[in-house]
Amino acid sequence: MSRKHNFCAGPAALPESVLQTAREEMLDWHGAGLSVMEMSHRSPEVVGIAERAEAALRELLGIGDDYAVLFLQGGASTQFSAVPLNLLGDKRSADYVNTGQWSKKAIAEGKRYAEVNVVASAEDSNFSIIPAQESWQLGADAAYLHYTPNETIGGVEYFWVPEVDAPLVADMSSTILSRPIDVSRFGAIYAGAQKNIGPAGLTLVIVRRDLLGRASELCPAMLNWQVAADNDSMYNTPPTYALYLAGLVFDWLKAQGGLAAMETINRRKAEKLYAAIDGSGFYANPVELASRSLMNVPFTLADDSLDKTFLAEAESADLLNLKGHRSVGGMRASIYNAVSEASVDALIAFMQDFEQRYG
Ligand code: PMP
Repeated sequence: MSRKHNFCAGPAALPESVLQTAREEMLDWHGAGLSVMEMSHRSPEVVGIAERAEAALRELLGIGDDYAVLFLQGGASTQFSAVPLNLLGDKRSADYVNTGQWSKKAIAEGKRYAEVNVVASAEDSNFSIIPAQESWQLGADAAYLHYTPNETIGGVEYFWVPEVDAPLVADMSSTILSRPIDVSRFGAIYAGAQKNIGPAGLTLVIVRRDLLGRASELCPAMLNWQVAADNDSMYNTPPTYALYLAGLVFDWLKAQGGLAAMETINRRKAEKLYAAIDGSGFYANPVELASRSLMNVPFTLADDSLDKTFLAEAESADLLNLKGHRSVGGMRASIYNAVSEASVDALIAFMQDFEQRYG
């Protein structure tokens, strides 16, 4: 068996040891005589798997008891609607920061329910910067402020947490678990699982409990965070196997030394890749230095007629999924937790060799 280097933006690489454990436990989980996939979600086995996954996540992120942890479905995109449906309460407007394609999707969906006030937009700079908070035009009576701490497509990341009076809501899909965060700064955090948490199909919401109970009457039960919290995320059948795998990923993260250790590794991986890009004279990354993502590294070639050749040769060298998002073109290397430093080294070596031959 040979596993290739996977730079996919999502669904993304999973730790090999997690996949091995899943394989070993596939047919007969811990002597139960069944696969986790075949068990009732109400069984003590699956309830235990869910409880242990939640406990491990709470430990990794330092989540206090005043926060509910919800394991949901529908992807982060469903939360674009769930956020206003759960948090508007008796207010009419909500603040949003526009830093890229994912912010824009959240804004478009938010507009169905709320008067959306875009407090700042980086669209003028082609989403290559994060607008400084001093420039934000905050609304007077916003129910919450929504932002995207890491834009997966543009590769821009906040290395600071906004200071606002309204509850802070963050789409952390592509940054969660990549480094420590202070959960107590947030009203709600949500993320699709398929980057740093586990396989697609699972969606994580972390919400401060005092924000529960303000959902709109029109909020479907399936999107209502209070309903999920009251039912331990088992209002309906949860994605049990994805949850089981997420639990294995959380255990793996703990074994790596937790999120502080992941941050050290992730910074080293990103720094060497950006250094290779900046030092080349052939590759370029458009993002301002202070906001370069640790997880998603977009880059272009000096001559874009070489893009196809680059991708084909990369694939022959077992370097997969380097094509940039269809909306921006160029290349993008996503280097989430489970992408090893050896994979980043292999990519850099390939890029340098390619430049020598074509540059
Ligand atoms: N937000 C961000 C920042 C994302 O990267 C993605 C997916 N790439 C989404 C939202 C949408 O997630 P999902 O596909 O789980 O709906």
